[in-house]
Formats: sequence, structure tokens, C-alpha cells
Amino acid sequence: MKNTAETEPPQDAKGKGFSKVVTLLKESLSVRISVGMAVTVISVLVLLVVGVTWQVQNSIFEQRRQQILEDASVTINQVQTAFSQSTASTTDQVQNLANQLISSLRATKTGSGVVTTMLLRSPNAPTTFAINELIDRDLVEVISPELRENMARGNGQFYQSIAIKDAKGKERPGIIVGATVVLPLAGQYELYTVYSLADEQDTILLMTQSLLFGAIPVAAFLGIGILWVLYNMLRPVRVTAEAAQQLARGDLSVRVEPHGEDEMAQLGKSFNIMAESLAKQIAEYDELAKLQQRFVSDVSHELRTPLTTIRIAEEIIYDEREAMSAPAARSAELLHSQVDRFEKMLADLLEISRHDSHTAQLDAEVSDMKELVRKVVEADRPLATRLGVEIVIDAPQSRYTAYMDRRRMERVLRNFLVNAIEHAEGKPVVIQIASNDKATSVRVRDFGVGMSADTSARVFDRFFRADPARTRTTGGTGLGLSIAAEDVALHRGKIEAAGKLAEGSVFMVTLPRTANMQVEAAVLPLWKDEEPPGETNG
Ligand code: ADP
Repeated sequence: MKNTAETEPPQDAKGKGFSKVVTLLKESLSVRISVGMAVTVISVLVLLVVGVTWQVQNSIFEQRRQQILEDASVTINQVQTAFSQSTASTTDQVQNLANQLISSLRATKTGSGVVTTMLLRSPNAPTTFAINELIDRDLVEVISPELRENMARGNGQFYQSIAIKDAKGKERPGIIVGATVVLPLAGQYELYTVYSLADEQDTILLMTQSLLFGAIPVAAFLGIGILWVLYNMLRPVRVTAEAAQQLARGDLSVRVEPHGEDEMAQLGKSFNIMAESLAKQIAEYDELAKLQQRFVSDVSHELRTPLTTIRIAEEIIYDEREAMSAPAARSAELLHSQVDRFEKMLADLLEISRHDSHTAQLDAEVSDMKELVRKVVEADRPLATRLGVEIVIDAPQSRYTAYMDRRRMERVLRNFLVNAIEHAEGKPVVIQIASNDKATSVRVRDFGVGMSADTSARVFDRFFRADPARTRTTGGTGLGLSIAAEDVALHRGKIEAAGKLAEGSVFMVTLPRTANMQVEAAVLPLWKDEEPPGETNG
């Protein structure tokens, strides 16, 4: 348990380090290219070093092999000549001669890389006379049975590559050369000379190490050099990317400073042109939008005076309608309702232009939402009664406070309720109120024509009307809900709509309970599959 706790932190640090490297590789093109180039160069250098070493090794070993074979051939001739010219006539004399020859070879030949010389009895030797074999106990096992077989089968020189254990027990390369010599009386014996290639191996090792140690700094400097060059080369890309992000955040004045005439400079120049044209177009749209808003505001204001005159005249006519003929009275009623509508439309347009010019003021205080809902319901009761719509208020608590501008909220709730009554098709409309410690929601649900998802996404757009041909009691302008949305935004509240065709619609407004609070979530769920209250009860 303790061990795990002790060993975990370094692993974590390792993991973090690794993920840092991965992030660096992912995020920086310069680092990626530099690492790629350094890896390529290192691979090429390693291949080169391996190739050169292999070639040099082959040629060094080949040269040494030739030398060894020539040296061995001279030795064999010397030994054979000595035995041939000998006058030894007893086994002891032959033994002495052999001892002398092998000892002197062992003593004199060490300089030419000879490790030892051995004399072994050939299987082809006659059985009548024999002398003692002269072997080196430590090295006799390097003479392989194959070499001995070859020697017994034919005349001449045979050799084999071998591994020789040095004083430290480490295996070093070597060559053993054998040839048959004929001894007086004793007949055929095998003469073996063991040569070491340790010096050659050391030379090759030294050369490989020098090449490798030379290659590593070259690769490192190359990697750092490439990184430096690329980092500087890609600076304009980084600068332009940062500028693009600033532009996206809304700073239209951001520009980059292109240096030179190359592709990178072109990138900077193109970015500047793009930013310039974007800023110009946005300024133009801004100007146009302001012009439009001013136009709407001016026209609405200008229309107010003639409309007031029309209203006065129309009211006189309307009051006299009973004295008129039936068609004239009908016209007077029509005129009256249309002037009503005109007035409402003008009031809406003026309200919208106040929002657009940011002159709309919030006159808010903490007050009771339930009381406001009751007031709106009472005001719209005549319309509901006329259309046979029952209004149900579902608010068990006595008070539901919210921080609100009562005039604006009354308008929002009236809009919800009138729309609901008009679209309810005679079915009940349920108004639910709920609060938590942060917000208060009012939800108006009808069970009438309903609306599609597409419609509910657009109901707060200006002049949007899902079915303009629909006969409406009061005749809407398509501005009511967009004004409601602006009013709710002033409160830093939330306004939502949902519906299903033929199942009804729901509109909900959520306001903060106190000043300086932003509504994050509604208190009630927006859409629920539910039955109209009359049907569940009955
Ligand atoms: P209008 O003056 O036309 O009522 P609104 O902005 O109040 O303008 O409403 C926009 C449109 O949203 C309406 O024309 C209608 O198509 C749709 N709408 C609003 N309330 C409902 C509702 N309760 N059920 C179905 N559609 C609705």
C-alpha cells in the first residue's frame, strides 16, 4: 500500500510531461516539423554510421584474415621443415623436438596476435608410435569437431571463426587455423594456431562510437536550428491567427503589420483587406439599421396627430350610428374597430422604436406577480367569456414576488393571455405561477390550435404571424410578442414558447426575484403533455 503511494507521483509527473509534449506537438507546426526533421536526420545518420561501420568492419576483418592465413602458412612450413630435417630416432627425441618447437612458437608469435599454438594427434596417425599432445587447456574446446573432420579428410590449411574468452570472461572474435604436419616416427599430427581479433574489434568499436557521438550533436543542432527558423518563419501566421480571434471577439479595428513581400506578408495583407471590408460593411449595416429605426420612429410620431383627428371624428360618427341607415351604421362600426387597431399598431411601433433607440426605461420594484395576473385576467375576462374560454389560475401560494416593471409585465401577460384565449378554440387556458429563491415563472398554457416547432422558434420575431389569414377577434400586428421579448430582456429575464399542432401552446416568462439578478433557469417545465383541466376533472 505504502509502496504504491510512494511510486505514484513520479508516474503522474511522467504522464503530465508526456501529455504536455503531445499538446506542444499538436499545437505547434514548428515543433512538429523540427521533430520530424530531427528524427529523419538521426535515422539517416544512424543508417550511414551502420553502413560505413559494416563496410569498414568487413574490409578490416578480410585484410586481417589474409594476413593470418599467410602467417599461419609460414609457421606450418617452419614446423614441417624442422620435423622433416630432424634426425630424431626415438619417441622421446621427437617429443622433445615437438615441445621445443611449440614452446618457441608460443613465446615468439604473441606479437602477431597469436593466442596459442597446439599440436594434436591426427586420427590418421599410425598406432605404433605416439608422442604426447601439446594443448592449451583453456583453449582446446575452441577446436570444433567439424574442423577436425576437415583436417582428417584433406591436406592443406583449414580455418574457422571462433569466439575466445578473454581474461575477464568476455567473448572476443578470433580465427583458428589448422594444418597437418608429419612427425618422424609418430606420423600425422594436427598443428593449430589460434589468432585473436580483439584489437580489430576494439578499433571498429572506437570508430563506431566516434561516428555516433559526432552524429548526435549534429542532429540536435539541426533540430534546434530548424525549430528556430520555422518559429520565426511562422510568426506572421501566429500573429494573423491571434488577430482573427480578436476580430471574432468584435474588435473590428485589429490589423496586422506585414513585413516583406513573401506569401506570409500576403497573408497579413489579405487579412487586413478582409478586416477593413468587414468593418466597412458592418458600419454600413449599422447606419442602415439606425436609418430604418429613425424612419419607423419618425413615421409613427408623424401619424399620431392625424390619427388623433381621425379618432375624434370617428367617435362622433360612431356615437351617431343608431340614427344611421343599417349599411352606414355597419361602416361606422367597422371604422371604429379599424381605428382601434390602427392606434394599437402605432403604439406598438412606438414601443419598438423606443427599444431600438435604447430609450426604453425599466421602472421596476419587487411586487406580487399573482396580483398582476389576476388584474390581467379580469381585464380580459369579457374576451374570454365571448369566446367561451375558461381561465384557470394555478397558484397555491398567496404571493409570488418578482422584481418587475408592472406596466411592462402587464403588457407581456396580456399578450400571452389574449393570444391564448384567441387560439384556445373554446378550451380552458391555465395560468400557472411558481417561485424559487431566485426566480418567479408565469406559464400560460392553452389547448387550442397549437403551433409547430418552427413557429415557436419564430414567434418572438417582429411582424411574425403564423397564419395571417386567420380571423382574429382583435386583429394582431405581429409585434406583440417581439415587444414582450424586449420587455423581458430589460428585466434580465427569460421568455420561452413551445407548442404542438392541435394540442395547444405554452408561453412562459421568468423574472428574477430581486434587482441585479440574471435569470438562469425557469421554475416550471415549459412543455408537458397534459389534458385541459375540464377533461381530467370530468
Ligand atoms: P399578434 O399581434 O399577431 O398576436 P404576436 O406577436 O402576439 O402577434 O404573436 C405572433 C404570432 O404568434 C401570432 O400571429 C400567432 O401566429 C402566434 N401565436 C401567439 N400565441 C399563440 C398561441 N397561444 N397559440 C398559437 N399561436 C400563437
